[in-house]
Amino acid sequence: MNSIKRLLALLLSILLLLPLVACQKPQPQDEGQEEEPVEEEPADLVSGVFEGEGKGKYGTFKVAVTLENSEIKDIKVLESSESGFTSTVIEQLFGEMIASNSTDVDAVSGATLTSMAVKTSVNDAVKKANVELSPKEVTAQEEKVEDVTTDIVIVGSGGAGLTAAIEATNKGAEVIVVEKMAFMGGNTNYATGGMNAAGTKYQEAKGIEDSPELFYQDTMKGGYNKNDPELLKYLTEKSAETIYWLESLGADLHEIGRSGGQSVDRIHKGPGGMPVGTHLMDVFTKQVKELGIDVRLNTKAVEILTDGDKVTGIKVENKDGNTYNINAKAVILASGGFGANPELVEKYKPSLKGFGTTNQPGATGDALLMVEKLDVALTDIAEIQTHPTVVPFYNEMITEGIRGDGAILVNRDAKRFVNELETRDVVSEAVLAQEGKTAFLVLDKTVFEKASTYKSYRDQGFLKEAATLDDLAKLMDVDAEALKQTIEDYNKYVREKSDPDFGRTSLEVELVTGPFYYVEIAPAIHHTMGGVKINTNCEVINNSGQVVKGLYAAGEVTGGVHGGNRIGGNAVADITVFGRTAGAKAAEAVKGE
Ligand SMILES: Cc1cc2nc3c(=O)[nH]c(=O)nc-3n(C[C@H](O)[C@H](O)[C@H](O)COP(=O)(O)OP(=O)(O)OC[C@H]3O[C@@H](n4cnc5c(N)ncnc54)[C@H](O)[C@@H]3O)c2cc1C
Repeated sequence: MNSIKRLLALLLSILLLLPLVACQKPQPQDEGQEEEPVEEEPADLVSGVFEGEGKGKYGTFKVAVTLENSEIKDIKVLESSESGFTSTVIEQLFGEMIASNSTDVDAVSGATLTSMAVKTSVNDAVKKANVELSPKEVTAQEEKVEDVTTDIVIVGSGGAGLTAAIEATNKGAEVIVVEKMAFMGGNTNYATGGMNAAGTKYQEAKGIEDSPELFYQDTMKGGYNKNDPELLKYLTEKSAETIYWLESLGADLHEIGRSGGQSVDRIHKGPGGMPVGTHLMDVFTKQVKELGIDVRLNTKAVEILTDGDKVTGIKVENKDGNTYNINAKAVILASGGFGANPELVEKYKPSLKGFGTTNQPGATGDALLMVEKLDVALTDIAEIQTHPTVVPFYNEMITEGIRGDGAILVNRDAKRFVNELETRDVVSEAVLAQEGKTAFLVLDKTVFEKASTYKSYRDQGFLKEAATLDDLAKLMDVDAEALKQTIEDYNKYVREKSDPDFGRTSLEVELVTGPFYYVEIAPAIHHTMGGVKINTNCEVINNSGQVVKGLYAAGEVTGGVHGGNRIGGNAVADITVFGRTAGAKAAEAVKGE
């Protein structure tokens, strides 16, 4: 028995020793014996995790780059203030860098600054690792394409397209959204100030007396009575319930302010002054994921398919240039405006030739060409709005909300020249009439602290800061005494609640608390009010006044709601009210068949 135990103990100790022996480094052989070749990692190959930093659109962008034998294996974001919509862009660039073991990748159109931040931060990490990357040949794998069939196909993934997609999906329809850019959101990503709605519980809580009728009157007046009365009535009546619907999806729109051309505080802002577009796109993106909506990025609609007088789907082109058909019982056009298409802008409004634009590069009015073969009616197509306060060359729009919050406009003589809260066309004209065709927005600390967006303007270097008005005048290169006099006069008007110079009625904040800020601005193309004609069911109308069967449209691609001039905050109302309606009506139609 004992001998068996001893044998077992011996076997066990041999088994326990085996892995240790196996793990030991090979030892030098006895002298005179031939050495086994030992594979060693070359000294110049680097492995480890290295951090790098770059400057994004809204601040520092930090990454951690994992290198294995001098090859990029992983990249993670450590710090970022970039807009939510850029997350797909960042992932795409990381993927390309890992695949090619190189930072020499193309910037993504519409997200150039974020792309640059990704490149500089990864380059910085690689530099810190003291590594020379050896780029790998990447054989591009073409995406397989084949025709597909669905209930509803939606062109464009901005606010109109996604609200339509969410509502249609919730009503039981199968939906595909196509987006030609590498990310969702279009101009909706850029919407800053807020969304107008009348008679909301939030206005009521603040004692603001408002109604759809007053909203209608203000908008008609602002649009020079060119607005489509039925569409506008529908918009104003549905605005409050749409705020609550958005909140049911996860939005928070309880903060209220004033934008130009409104007689009461009506613009519902993102939480904490967060840009409304960023906020809503976060909400929509989450919904898209939760509902499992099929959104196809880098997929451009190039043609509307028809069978007789009925629309039957669209032809799309993917990023490899290959085309396929998406057959559908209904098509919703939600492809936005044409503010970034200089040829179309010049065609419809020659006086705007050479103007900058606040729009994303995908706002090229593709739908206008696609609907030609259907003889679709266009409404107010020459009505193109400039935004009065855009930073020249950078095309960064300074939201109208900053004037609503108390900023004033002065010219090179440091004098005010307009009621800052006039409609955009009036303020744009007034700025263009000043020396140099630019002007300065001036504000103090109290105004500056009213919204987080203003801090981001400063962090990006647009808002310049000075401790005193004398110092500010120096920065602006204007006469200090004149600037101080203008501000003293304005502060008096605030105290007296009356502006005898220009009739400004929103006089809330005296500009007395330093530091003071200014930014130089000029008008740029901002919104295309005209577009395809729709009825209140969002059905597209042709030149004979007939509904084009199976074709719906919503958002900036349509015309009629805004007439001759859009009031700030009305586009987000437009895209959400009509986007939701388009989704509901298209779903009802396809499900009812
Ligand atoms: C800087 C800025 C600030 C603004 N601030 C406000 C604000 O505070 N309040 C307000 O009410 N309005 C604001 N607006 C206006 C408002 O943002 C837009 O009018 C609105 O977001 C348009 O929404 P949309 O869904 O119709 O179009 P978009 O959001 O532009 O979406 C259309 C999408 O369709 C895609 N697309 C185009 N053609 C094709 C094609 N052929 N195939 C596939 N996809 C295609 C585009 O790439 C885009 O992603 C602002 C606009 C800008 C530019």
